[in-house]
Amino acid sequence: MNTKLLTECQLCGHKCGVNRLAGQRGICQAGITPMVASACLHHGEEPVISGQLGSGTIFFTHCVLRCVFCQNYEISQAEKGAEASTEQLVEMMLALQRDGAHNINLVSPTQYGWQLKTALVEAKRAGLFLPVVYNTGGYDSLDLLLELSGLIDIYLPDLKYFNDERAARYSGGENYLAVATAGIREMHRQVGDIKLDQQGLAQKGVLVRHLVLPNNLADTKPALHFLRELSPKIWLSLMAQYIPQYRASEYPEINRQLLPEEYNPLLDYASELGLENVFIQDLNSAGQFLPDFSQTQPFNPANNQIGT
Ligand code: SF4
Repeated sequence: MNTKLLTECQLCGHKCGVNRLAGQRGICQAGITPMVASACLHHGEEPVISGQLGSGTIFFTHCVLRCVFCQNYEISQAEKGAEASTEQLVEMMLALQRDGAHNINLVSPTQYGWQLKTALVEAKRAGLFLPVVYNTGGYDSLDLLLELSGLIDIYLPDLKYFNDERAARYSGGENYLAVATAGIREMHRQVGDIKLDQQGLAQKGVLVRHLVLPNNLADTKPALHFLRELSPKIWLSLMAQYIPQYRASEYPEINRQLLPEEYNPLLDYASELGLENVFIQDLNSAGQFLPDFSQTQPFNPANNQIGT
């Protein structure tokens, strides 16, 4: 394993260069030992991830981004959670598997990506057979994604913005566009489009999440265009659940919920582009603490109908 990714930390787009092994901390503030905020069966992801029994979610503390509207800021910014050794991480995964989880869902994993590689190798040796989901904000370095190649079955990245200025203003991510698009290309190279099993559960592939922001500040149309160019069969969650939490009140232009007249035309645009596999959300789904797709239904742009 390439320890330089940690001794000169290059795990995410910030590339802080700090020596994590020596106890130094970079922008994410993560230490060397992974911290976990929760491990549970989660029913609020997309239906192809949560299924009937739930997704085996391990939610990691800290985050490489600094979203001013973060719904999980107590975990991402306020360090809620507890340290977990490699052995404990392996046992968490195996316990979720025993509990009937459809997959192991690593949420906000980037700052611990190097350590997770070790845990995944050991978990698979110990009998983990479920698909592994890498549920990321999309600011992973290419070097990290290459290290993880072969260990991740399903990538669940955000494509938060298609504009560097806004990514820097609202999420503290410099050069976000280049990092995120290169990362999604690499994820797609590794695992391709989503493949379902006979129960309709994802077994492999990329499912991209894009949260539409008020005043079109996520630049949704070019983001959709990029995804369509990557693959017309790309799976996408076009999310409407934005609510102004955490420090959003400091930014008047995003200090309100999304309006139907902002969201609905983007569904038409997805249809015009020919995107085939899109999940949409009811605008009333705003207000959930965790991403909640309980309102989500498959959207078939070909006939502009919900629930195919
Ligand atoms: S994970 Fe990213 S933010 Fe954290 S120390 Fe490494 S390069 Fe910096």
